[in-house]
Amino acid sequence: MTDGPRATWVEGAAGSLFDVDNLPYGVFASRSSDDEPPRVGARIGDLVVDLAPVAAGDMLEVGHVFESPSLNPFMSLGRPVWSSTRAWLTGLLTDESERDLVEPHLVPVDDVDLLLPFEVADYVDFYCSLHHATNVGRILRPDGDPLAASWRHLPVGYHGRAGTVVVSGTDVRRPCGQRREGGPQEGAAPSYGPSRRLDLEAEVGFVVGSATALGSRVGTAGLADHVFGVVLLDDWSARDIQAWEYVPLGPFLGKSFATSVSGWVTPLEALAAARVDLPGQDPRPLGYLRVEEPAGYDIDLEVLVDGETVSRPPYASTYWSPAQMLAHLTVNGASLRTGDLFASGTVSGPRTDQRGSLLELSWGGREPFRVGAGQRTFLEDGDTVTLRATAPGTAGGRIALGEVTGRVRPATP
Ligand code: CA
Repeated sequence: MTDGPRATWVEGAAGSLFDVDNLPYGVFASRSSDDEPPRVGARIGDLVVDLAPVAAGDMLEVGHVFESPSLNPFMSLGRPVWSSTRAWLTGLLTDESERDLVEPHLVPVDDVDLLLPFEVADYVDFYCSLHHATNVGRILRPDGDPLAASWRHLPVGYHGRAGTVVVSGTDVRRPCGQRREGGPQEGAAPSYGPSRRLDLEAEVGFVVGSATALGSRVGTAGLADHVFGVVLLDDWSARDIQAWEYVPLGPFLGKSFATSVSGWVTPLEALAAARVDLPGQDPRPLGYLRVEEPAGYDIDLEVLVDGETVSRPPYASTYWSPAQMLAHLTVNGASLRTGDLFASGTVSGPRTDQRGSLLELSWGGREPFRVGAGQRTFLEDGDTVTLRATAPGTAGGRIALGEVTGRVRPATP
């Protein structure tokens, strides 16, 4: 026996992007059975472990939480249970003698529908990428300072709409609203109609498990105690609606129509080997925002439109870390609830092929970019947007985060 990680007995899983060092959780429904209620599963290779019957068969004390159509009951149990459950599951999937217990409860991932994996409590979106914020500032305010005075002192954020967070695979209807003819230039009259500048935003979302009491704060060291896991997130954005409405209170209807998240939630523990130092913060943040490095995460994102890769944003280039987002959003005593979701904001790297929105890729719609045989400025009806990501795994290979995809449907007449 060696002390190294043991290989899984699940066929096809070893060495894949969903090896035993990944094990994301989701909520699934069998396509072949209408009378089985949706419940919690974990992915290994191209299979889903139906956790409720496995836990019952192994008399796992907390096993009842997997009978829920949401991860919230499991997530509310806290870090010690998340860790012990992960160790239990890893043991089952690597110990050949457990095979008889588990194998009857493995379901092909192609035979299930993934549902929204958690009940979203509050949803907060940040604006943590220096490259994204600088690009947007240059596009929208070419004569001014691209960054607000506060940007390097705190992670800027706004409250999004929790009730319109949808799972990957959900169609997104082009929103209607007020927008200015010819763009956001001053002086033009507004009109009402379908957005002409529908965009995607490639983001990383963090899902809170452990709640806090009103009036308490979570320091930057509290990330692993409170954040259960990570999703990919597409913050669909109607740039024309957004540009007309966002001063002075920030995004509203230009973003609240839909936010897509992956069906798989990657445990934070699975990203332990992906931790990297932040690119550097100047000036040094105030005390409550100081972090122990490594505080960043080396997650490589990929943005596809109709199956064509248009960008590869590197999350490691992001200025503000998730620990700092969490510390900032609770520094005023705002409580956390199980199911709270906070997201990074658009991830953009320094290079033009690392931009995480079409607003940047088309530089405000002025420079169409290639998508396969065609070109785009913003999204067209029928376009399918897909976000993918991989990161270093703890076994030396790479792991995949859950994919998030959505197709643009025409506006309701
Ligand atoms: Ca966003």
